[in-house]
Amino acid sequence: MNSNVRVRFAPSPTGPLHIGGLRTALYNYLFARKHQGSFILRIEDTDQNRYVPGAEDYIKRSLQWCGLNPDEGPDQGGLAGPYRQSERASIYQEYVELLLEKGKAYYAFDTVEELEAMRQQEQGHAKYDSSTRQSMRNSLTIKQEEVEKLVAEGKPYVIRMLVPEARQIHFVDRIRGEVEFDSAELDDKVILKADGLPTYHLANVVDDHLMQITHVIRGEEWLSSTAHHVLLYEALEWQDSMPEFAHLPLILKPTGKGKLSKRDGQKFGFPVFPLAWQDADPNESFEGFDTFGFNPEALVNFLAFLGWNPGTEEEIFTLSQLTQAFSLDHIGKSGARFDYDKALWYNSQYLSKMDPSVFRDAIIPFLDKAGFDPNHSKLTSICQLMQDRIKTYAELPDACRFFFIDIEQYDEVTISKKWNNDTKLLLKSIRGSLSKSTDFNAEKIKSKVSELINQAGVKFGDILPLLRIALTGEGKGADVFSIMEILGAESTLDRLDKAESVFSGLKPV
Ligand code: GLU
Repeated sequence: MNSNVRVRFAPSPTGPLHIGGLRTALYNYLFARKHQGSFILRIEDTDQNRYVPGAEDYIKRSLQWCGLNPDEGPDQGGLAGPYRQSERASIYQEYVELLLEKGKAYYAFDTVEELEAMRQQEQGHAKYDSSTRQSMRNSLTIKQEEVEKLVAEGKPYVIRMLVPEARQIHFVDRIRGEVEFDSAELDDKVILKADGLPTYHLANVVDDHLMQITHVIRGEEWLSSTAHHVLLYEALEWQDSMPEFAHLPLILKPTGKGKLSKRDGQKFGFPVFPLAWQDADPNESFEGFDTFGFNPEALVNFLAFLGWNPGTEEEIFTLSQLTQAFSLDHIGKSGARFDYDKALWYNSQYLSKMDPSVFRDAIIPFLDKAGFDPNHSKLTSICQLMQDRIKTYAELPDACRFFFIDIEQYDEVTISKKWNNDTKLLLKSIRGSLSKSTDFNAEKIKSKVSELINQAGVKFGDILPLLRIALTGEGKGADVFSIMEILGAESTLDRLDKAESVFSGLKPV
């Protein structure tokens, strides 16, 4: 690391990481690498009610799968640790005390009922702010001795930040430009909860400061929180080291209407999580891009383009090419529509260019899952035949099931159109000729069969589909001669024999 750029990805472990979160991680990573800076992983786990066991591990595995390895984080360590907020409680306590001393925060003892009654004012729109705080039970309205007594007695309380009145809060967002909030719109956010842990706002600001974060790149849903954060930087007199902000536009549903949600995956039939997630609750279990058969490099390329573009027509970028090309200036202001067909296109591009042995290894879990023998003696040739014909690894078992099991179903429609006396005779002579062939390779088979077809005067378009159906059950697919070579002479002849009787049974000639 030879620059002072320090960015952090700060997810909350409240469930599996959505691809929107993964895109945030990716942009942080690219920005850090582009500027020879540090990419930091910080786990924001101060909300015990929303904590989901396994989610932190899921986040780390997802980053690793995509090659987005942090320089500092809970597992890597680093000078600014610990990197898990639940392990930093005493640090936040110190800053809460500082804010109380400076009069920028106050104790609030209000009960749930009292808070509810307050909210009912102004037709249910009331907030805990300058218009209501003076009528609530807090250290602004109660004498100091009484406050001390309540604290000593162990009465539950929270600490709220005191939002100044009549202030315009400005900051520059790297994506949206000048942003302005009126302090009248802001409530006195709780910064320390009754359980002694900070809320997101305080922990986030304190950590970004102590970890010397220079750029905060996060989802647009945090834009409005930034106004509170700016006030906290001011209250703590840290405004000179305030990071730059960049709020990323939403990822939209394929329809373009509304934010892509975790349920959209199930609804539209595509993954919205990088890795599959198994939850105790089956309704909360999800497939991932991994189980859908994606190459993580393709996913990364696809995600990079969901909201960013290099300013050229080029679309295929490896992670290191993305790093070179990346810039916050090329992130769009409007939401990016999730286009699964585009994801498939990227994946097929990557699959077709993979090293064959790596492709073969990647296929094995999918064969296992389909119940097909991953130790098939011809697996290398099968993979070679299929590598640029499939869009996901998951498609492979089904696309070439005929190599693993006997044909279960024949394409009857095509048979009924093409099966006649001529094709029947020709199939017989092809079978006869192949049975004598000593050299059973695709090229030789092709020239022999072509010769016979030409002699018979039958159209290639009439016999080849039948030949393919005889061997695979289907009228369309990979090169039929390569299929024969992979099946081998014995299996090819057996299938041709069986086909003749099946075809004649379906359509006697
Ligand atoms: N913990 C927040 C989240 O779950 C992070 C927001 C931020 O990056 O400041 O997304």
